[in-house]
Amino acid sequence: MASPRGGDSHDSPCPASPSLRVPIGCDNSVTSSDWATQSRDWAGPEGGAGWGCGGLGRCVGPQGMWRAGSMSAELGVGFALRSVNERVQQAVARRPRDLPAIQPRLVAVSKTKPADMVIEAYGHGQRTFGENYVQELLEKASNPKILSSCPEIKWHFIGHLQKQNVNKLMAVPNLAMLETVDSMKLADKVNSSWQKKGSPERLKVMVQINTSGEESKHGLLPSETVATVEHINAKCPSLEFVGLMTIGSFGHDLSQGPNPDFQVLLSVREELCKKLNIPADQVELSMGMSMDFQHAIEVGSTNVRVGSTIFGERDYSKKPALDKSTADLKTSAEVTQAH
Ligand SMILES: *Cc1c(COP(=O)(O)O)cnc(C)c1O
Repeated sequence: MASPRGGDSHDSPCPASPSLRVPIGCDNSVTSSDWATQSRDWAGPEGGAGWGCGGLGRCVGPQGMWRAGSMSAELGVGFALRSVNERVQQAVARRPRDLPAIQPRLVAVSKTKPADMVIEAYGHGQRTFGENYVQELLEKASNPKILSSCPEIKWHFIGHLQKQNVNKLMAVPNLAMLETVDSMKLADKVNSSWQKKGSPERLKVMVQINTSGEESKHGLLPSETVATVEHINAKCPSLEFVGLMTIGSFGHDLSQGPNPDFQVLLSVREELCKKLNIPADQVELSMGMSMDFQHAIEVGSTNVRVGSTIFGERDYSKKPALDKSTADLKTSAEVTQAH
């Protein structure tokens, strides 16, 4: 692997992410499979102060907070976040120069995870979090501990939004973005609901595209994108269209080439920008999850949604009400590419 240190795209070896306040290591001498073992050799502090970080394997800090283990959750949220951020920067360094030079935003997907883990991640500098169920998001975002310890938190809604849940979503404190607008009607409903709230700022929205063409998947057909974005721009003054989102298929084998879902989203943006005469750097792309966020960034993602790599595997057995989301994601693993 090439080292991004001294790469010409950064002024400093450790460019700060807008959503991150902690310094991030920039030496990529440690790969994702290495770091679990290497971490046994060092100890890190709570709170992120006083790190000497030339790379993951060489971080030094006060004794005792990290336990040996192979899962991110066992190693600690702070360690996992640092690793993910380092890998984000490595992917940025590999990104072709013809793609918009946007620092990708890391959305830490905290679904099924307790408020304490959100607060821990926030303590390590993470500011943007994602949830895919309205009720769970409302409860977490309204949690008094989160409200008092995370004043700058930003919540992204990344799940399927039903019209009857729109008002509830609009009541979520610190809601920063809705990534999953998938019809003009939903946009209208969100627009009027946000308007009623009387917020001085427009609500940032992304339009979700069904890039795999699967019937069971949420999202607009690529061919519906232009009209929908035009509709939002013209008829939804309380909304600010900021980008396109896809979940895409699971299990794509990268040795077979770039993920076709990501390629579809890129071409949808290209067409949209041409038709509406807007620069590509004004249309974000939300794509990439735990298993493929680096690849997603390399091909142009500006918003990666990473859950289990930061917070550990999700245990749905304790929360039967959330089973549907595993089902959703499992289905996407079985998507056969229509491309
Ligand atoms: C759960 C979820 C993610 C994160 O998945 P991981 O594989 O845990 O990183 C990302 N996007 C959406 C829409 C999700 O529902």
